[in-house]
Amino acid sequence: MTPPRDPATSPTIVWLRDDLRVADNPALTAAAERGAPVVVLYLLDEQSRGIRPLGSASRWWLHHSLEALAASVSEIGATFVLRRGAAAVELPRLVSDIAAGAVFWNRRYGGPQREVDAALKSSLRDLGLTVQSFQANLLHEPWTVTTGSGTPFRVFTPFWKSCLAAAPPREPLPEPTSLDGVEGVDSDSVGDWALLPTRPDWAGGIREAWTPGERGALAQLERFAAHDLAHYDTARDAPGGEATSRLSPYLRFGEISPFQVWQRTQRGELDAAARRNAPKFLSEIGWREFNWNILFHAPDLHEKNFRADFDAFPWQAPDPRDLEAWQQGRTGIPFVDAGMRELWQTGYMHNRVRMVVASFLIKNLLVDWRIGEQWFWDTLVDADEASNPGNWQWVAGSGADAAPYFRIFNPLLQAEKFDRDGAYQRRYLPELGTDDYPQPIVDLKKSRDLALAAYEQVKRAGESG
Ligand code: FAD
Repeated sequence: MTPPRDPATSPTIVWLRDDLRVADNPALTAAAERGAPVVVLYLLDEQSRGIRPLGSASRWWLHHSLEALAASVSEIGATFVLRRGAAAVELPRLVSDIAAGAVFWNRRYGGPQREVDAALKSSLRDLGLTVQSFQANLLHEPWTVTTGSGTPFRVFTPFWKSCLAAAPPREPLPEPTSLDGVEGVDSDSVGDWALLPTRPDWAGGIREAWTPGERGALAQLERFAAHDLAHYDTARDAPGGEATSRLSPYLRFGEISPFQVWQRTQRGELDAAARRNAPKFLSEIGWREFNWNILFHAPDLHEKNFRADFDAFPWQAPDPRDLEAWQQGRTGIPFVDAGMRELWQTGYMHNRVRMVVASFLIKNLLVDWRIGEQWFWDTLVDADEASNPGNWQWVAGSGADAAPYFRIFNPLLQAEKFDRDGAYQRRYLPELGTDDYPQPIVDLKKSRDLALAAYEQVKRAGESG
């Protein structure tokens, strides 16, 4: 029998997952309000059923993010604990180690994660603990945004209109101060988890490009709101200009919350031009919300076509040489190659180029979108369970509110339009214009015609189904 806990003094566990921050963290704020000592837990769970293992670039990010979080948690006085294993085993173990009286967390929206959380909520409550979950990572939780007839939205514009018409997002919460911790709790050290690459260490370019952690996130938001937001609408499509916020990995790991982003770019101090551009920027935050809404209703989004008629699509088994050329940025199509090398070197790729490289793989090489999605999953620092498959399916035509399949990007025209002076392509392709740069691996016009013919099969399947 577990000894009775004194509700006022038994410690609170705050279980952090995709919310690696101390500011605007409702679970942490609730723990501070409860008044007892606080243990902040991060669990590396690679065992629970259905949870997708992190890709390599995400593991790199997580390592540094946890180091930053450990420092912030100790600054506010709480104890930071790392454990590894299935949540259903490890969380009750920590509860028993410290005789915790309450467990708080912020909600997750993926299918397997919700199953884990629901089971723990009920089993810990059965043990007599106070267990509470909070809204922290989406402005609008999926079950709160539905069409007039109560069904989920499948089209972005009415979805976002409905979000904008709802009660405005709450103000961000300040970070708690002067918490008490718990002495002597066992913890792994983040180095034990071997999240960083060693042989070889391919992360040099990523290290140069990014500063993971909450402070880096807030600095990035501030820089963007003060400088680039003012010309976001016109400059966001040019990959050479770096005019977008670059908040995606921070949002992915929850080092910043969408409430903080909303507050700074909607209510914060902005000049007139920034104010004019804010709605466009926020609609991109809206696409993040939309993808999570879709994933909530279709938890197998990275495996299954959202539109079932695409199951009839005649994907080609990829030629390993072509696939490798795409992955390594050696297709002979400069805009595609620059994007793929940006990804490899920095763990990031500009959105316009992501669309072009995805279209090239899917429509010019007729490779199943799932293969490209998996490569992005492994190499992006912002690899997101909802937005990555959501966008791949958007490009493929199989997704929610997707680009029509027959709209096939011409990567040469895209480069002319969005990288007119070629600066972006030259940055990543120093050998461009020399004999070392490869010939195109595919004829753009012929492959486009083949893709359109393949799409006819989907259309026929749709008509007969
Ligand atoms: P900004 O333009 O400053 O936008 C602000 C924020 O809005 C972003 O940080 C992001 O959180 C959100 N956002 C912007 N565009 C989108 C979008 N199309 N879908 C969903 N959210 C969006 N984004 C990810 O966060 N993770 C992914 O794994 C991911 N995979 C993608 C795969 C493909 C094939 C494509 C075409 C796009 C993908 N995106 C993904 C969306 C988009 O490319 C990135 O969010 C964006 O480039 C990040 O840069 P930023 O933060 O400067 O964006």
